[in-house]
Amino acid sequence: MNVPIVPDPVLLDRARGCAVGAAIGDALGMPLEAKPPRPLDNLLREMVRGRLPAGRFTDDTEMALALAESLLAQRPLDPADLARRFLAWADTGPDDIGVHTGRVLWRLRRGEPWDVAAEAVQEMNRASAANGSLMRCWPVALACWSEPEALRRDSVLQSRVTHVHIDCLAACVFANTLIAALLRGGTPVEAFNEALATVPLPDDLRDTIELAASRRRGRLRNSGWVHHTLESALWGLLNTDSFEEALVQVVNLGGDADSAGAVVGALAGAAYGLSAIPERWRMALHGAWPPRSGTIWTERDFVTLADRLLETRETRS
Ligand SMILES: [Mg+2]
Repeated sequence: MNVPIVPDPVLLDRARGCAVGAAIGDALGMPLEAKPPRPLDNLLREMVRGRLPAGRFTDDTEMALALAESLLAQRPLDPADLARRFLAWADTGPDDIGVHTGRVLWRLRRGEPWDVAAEAVQEMNRASAANGSLMRCWPVALACWSEPEALRRDSVLQSRVTHVHIDCLAACVFANTLIAALLRGGTPVEAFNEALATVPLPDDLRDTIELAASRRRGRLRNSGWVHHTLESALWGLLNTDSFEEALVQVVNLGGDADSAGAVVGALAGAAYGLSAIPERWRMALHGAWPPRSGTIWTERDFVTLADRLLETRETRS
């Protein structure tokens, strides 16, 4: 006889907070993208119009939704399926596609296999380590929060479809290990220490992560480099004590504000839960998924998605 599983209410609230929080951080950062840091006495705290309407999520969230739907369709993650979904997304003509991701998708469209296309783009610029896979990686943490080996494997695989640099792979494993520790009930400091103790990291990325909390605001660059995005998000999470303040501090760094916002939103949402996210932001959140389909996603859809991701299990023994 099957015994129905009653989800732990803390786990449920935190998983929903992660999904909704990531999309809210993306939308909150959207109008501040490519801008200089805002002065501390004039921080943006509301969803406002930028290149898109107020509350609209961007490519960061759209790519996360493609990843989430791939995980719902098949566990373990099938990178060829994910590559097809990214390509289908790009074919809808989204408002924005990262430069590196765009190059990989162009090769995929020509028929290159997923593992060839991303390697070929990396070969053009060996040092390139952008944040395009970090900004979208949170669905793996929701699907694999209780399975550390699956979490590590699928965090790496989802990155390799577009971003193969070792720092990108390690940053995704680190962020998802941190989210999983938060979903299990840890505080931000406890979860951070757990991730730091368990995730293998290249030396320079380890330095970035260890020093992030002690960085002065004026030294944060918040560019599209994966080091900068993870640094900003950790700085925000570890120097504040609420969802709202963590996001406000990070998106107001400007630069790649929407991507850093998505990452800190996933982390802070997992730390404080859906119930801690300001209602005014939850009400404003929206976007078409798939792009231009006419189907508008709101907070409720992200909540349902989080619940479904928690229910996925490996189907292959
Ligand atoms: Mg974006």
